Amino acid sequence: MAQTQLAPLQVLLDLCGRYMSAADLALVREAHAAADAAHAGTNRKSGEPYIEHPLAVASILAELAMDVEGIAAALLHDTVEDTQLTLDGVRTRFGPAIARVVDGVTKFGAAEATETLRASATLDGATPTLAQRKASKERQQAESVRKLLKAMSHDPRVVLVKLADRLHNLRTLDAMSDTQRERTARETLDIYAPLAGRMGLYNIKSELEDLAFRYLDPDAYAHTVQRLDDETAKRTHWAERMVERMQRELVASGIQAAVNWRVKHPYRAWIEARESGMDIALLHDLIAFRVLVNERDECYQALRVIHHLWHPYSERIRDYVSTPKLNGYQSLHTAVFALDGRLAQMHIRTHAMHRASQHGMATYWLERAEAGAQHAPAAPLWTDHKPRWVDRFASWDDDAKLSAAEFVTTLRGEVLEEQVFVFTPKGDVFELPAGATVIDFAYQIHTEIGDHTAGAQILSSDPDGLLEAQQVPPEYVLRTGDIVRVLRSPASQPSVEWLQAAQTLHARERIRRALRRGEEPAAAQRLEPAAESEPGLPGPLRHPSGRAATVRLGRCCYPCPGDKIAGLVESGTLVTVHRACCRTLHAALARRRARSAAHAEPLRVRWEDLQPIAYRLHLAIHGQDHRGLMHEVSACVAQLGLSVAGGLASANRARYKAAITITLDIPPTMWREQVMRRLRTVPGVLRVERDVRAGCDETAN
Ligand code: MN
Repeated sequence: MAQTQLAPLQVLLDLCGRYMSAADLALVREAHAAADAAHAGTNRKSGEPYIEHPLAVASILAELAMDVEGIAAALLHDTVEDTQLTLDGVRTRFGPAIARVVDGVTKFGAAEATETLRASATLDGATPTLAQRKASKERQQAESVRKLLKAMSHDPRVVLVKLADRLHNLRTLDAMSDTQRERTARETLDIYAPLAGRMGLYNIKSELEDLAFRYLDPDAYAHTVQRLDDETAKRTHWAERMVERMQRELVASGIQAAVNWRVKHPYRAWIEARESGMDIALLHDLIAFRVLVNERDECYQALRVIHHLWHPYSERIRDYVSTPKLNGYQSLHTAVFALDGRLAQMHIRTHAMHRASQHGMATYWLERAEAGAQHAPAAPLWTDHKPRWVDRFASWDDDAKLSAAEFVTTLRGEVLEEQVFVFTPKGDVFELPAGATVIDFAYQIHTEIGDHTAGAQILSSDPDGLLEAQQVPPEYVLRTGDIVRVLRSPASQPSVEWLQAAQTLHARERIRRALRRGEEPAAAQRLEPAAESEPGLPGPLRHPSGRAATVRLGRCCYPCPGDKIAGLVESGTLVTVHRACCRTLHAALARRRARSAAHAEPLRVRWEDLQPIAYRLHLAIHGQDHRGLMHEVSACVAQLGLSVAGGLASANRARYKAAITITLDIPPTMWREQVMRRLRTVPGVLRVERDVRAGCDETAN
């Protein structure tokens, strides 16, 4: 019997022994003894002694070479919540660092929550109803997430212990009740798996996703696994021949490489197949080969060997080694027409890059263990490299006084879901939730800048690698890679429209604050009477209010006669018309849908429904870089009798090339082809195109 008690501890000690000193191992034993005593006599639902759970959690972390404080905290993580041991007790015996981690993973007010429930029950004179219990449970769950993430901004080990805890709980779902399982699996997909991804812990993320998926949708899970097995079986022979062939060629070229292949995880395969509408078998990276080498330079040598062996599919070549992804990911990607003419996806990287891609933030401890304690960096992980998103948690509470539920919603929307990365002209990276606008970015830089945002100059590179500039309104939806210079004007002020366009809590909070300071009347006026007094063009188009619509063309996407368009219903009789693909339009509609607001569907509009209307034409002019190009283009525009609404000459990244983006006000009587044809005759101009990318992801027409 003593054997079964000892074995899991021995597993942990063996793992720790690989990188810990004797003194550290003694502390691990001591933490185990304390936890074992505290949990003595309790079993998990599945029957084994409770202590096996904290031991397993600690072992998951020991595999990542977690330091002794992290391991001790993992062993003690359930004591304060479930046993007589108090936080003070842990602190006295094990010190403040370990106590802080234990506190971070301890459910919010485990004791208080039960108290409140009991109190409300006594008031009603009855035992708490199921609904009461559920509501209390949900509140506690949200409070616990908030507590965890705020603790995380002081010490990332808090989240690592929590993720390991969740991983073991999901591996052993039998140890939980049905309601617990459902709640745990959901919360894992909503919060913990994305959080693991955010920290770069891809191994843990995939396992969490697959386990939760298997529980929440057993049929889809089984079906996906079956499909993956079938596809793998079909391709195994081929994949093995590929590996063998590559190994042989690499050795012949003097490159030491480990070559293997992996199959996509069930949850990811299921999601990607569903989102792309394709059968699983057709996902391009269902199987990917990995070529792991020792040195950075060998990545390129290996790539050359492989491209010599098989013809590359050039559209799929990516060099994330010299230009890492913004999350730090490094690898060379290529796809080649390989044996049997099949397209094979390849990832080439060093062992170190590979480890970082699997373990993300935990690489810090792995490297520390490898260097040996005496060479370990003295500074704790987040002294230098704390990600900016981690710091937002504290400000959400201080600025906005969020409830726990609002905190969790904001966390999901602003941190865990899709992000875009944009740059300042100096090259600083800012990370914003997808759908964020220039307004969000401006407030992220400084409140003063936010309060007077008049728009921005955006630099982005076109397919030729040429930098292009465009001027955009404050509501412009940012895209990854945009270089953003915010334009300011004292006349520009926060408005109700801004409030609708802003995506981030921080920007919305600042705008509300500005509106409360008394600028609101002005803003409100601007919205309401605008419909009556602006020289808009009442056409046959009807506003849903029944009156003739006042039409304005969107300044975000520059709709031109002939484009597919859609209307956004505004207050009064105003309808703004956008290109059907406009990101600003879709973001506005999505926001309305999310808030269950009115007019969340686009209004059907055709050009015939509008009176002849003046429009703005947004053009990209490419030419040879000579000083007079902008001048000559301006002269041509003047000859046409047009006025320039905005124009920017951009940096000539490729020598002898220039790009000018120009925005022209065109009267209803003039065709855009007419204008473009004339501009093409200007000396030095090589190409004139309508810049359809402004505001839109798809190409128009
Ligand atoms: Mn636990």
